[in-house]
Amino acid sequence: MTRRQFALGGGGLLAGGLVATARGASAEPAPASAGAPAPGLIEDLVAANRILADQGVLDGYGHVSARHDQDPGRYLLSRSLAPELVTAGDIMEYDLDSRPLDPRGRAAYLERYIHGEVYRARPDVKAIVHHHAPSVIPFGASTVPLRPLYHMAAFLGGGVPVFDIRAAAGGPTDMLVSSAALGQALARGLGEHSAVLMRGHGAVVVGASVPQAVARSVYMEIDARVAAQAIALGGEVRYLDAEEARRAQAAVEATLGRPWELWKRKAMARCAGPTPSS
Ligand SMILES: [Zn+2]
Repeated sequence: MTRRQFALGGGGLLAGGLVATARGASAEPAPASAGAPAPGLIEDLVAANRILADQGVLDGYGHVSARHDQDPGRYLLSRSLAPELVTAGDIMEYDLDSRPLDPRGRAAYLERYIHGEVYRARPDVKAIVHHHAPSVIPFGASTVPLRPLYHMAAFLGGGVPVFDIRAAAGGPTDMLVSSAALGQALARGLGEHSAVLMRGHGAVVVGASVPQAVARSVYMEIDARVAAQAIALGGEVRYLDAEEARRAQAAVEATLGRPWELWKRKAMARCAGPTPSS
């Protein structure tokens, strides 16, 4: 299936019978906390919020989550707050139905269903970023696909599908993935890919760790910018081919600890809020 075929025929919500069964089963018990996550996971998640703001991927909107390290049926996500302001005390635990377990009056992000439904559909995913970076928006609205122009975005070599919320919902919406059904449709659009563009909205990027999801988001944003520049030059644009992308992804993702440490140090020093205590 091509990217455009998906966008046009993205499948209505009524097609999600399997997902509805899964939801019904998991919705029965009252949510129970999985207990305290590893302190390092909370620290990384706070850093991820600030790094993505510092790197221009997130502004006052967008969010990043981590799957709970003690229970794959739980995830961690800030209360509704600008990412640059997130501290450890703002992180809330959710079940995969995206119900906050201990809200204590704290508001939840409207689009938290992105996280719950992608975690449900993709056991390999341990961290998720949802962003509205301006550079990716044209590729979600155009027939020009987003492809890896350089090695740091090699993870895009498997293709980047486009999720069209109008096709998923069967008509116009406010563009927000603000229900479980829309989250399930988005997860189907993502499939086994590392990222999905959202027409007229932004993107979702997944990773096997918080640093990987953050790095992929940073380099996806840069790739969209430089690809648009290359396209604007005219002539033939030569992207990484499939074998180059496969090899480059392995090489790059083996060394992500290097930029992660740099970004984390810079972001935590620059941001105004208090640093995490643990
Ligand atoms: Zn959004």
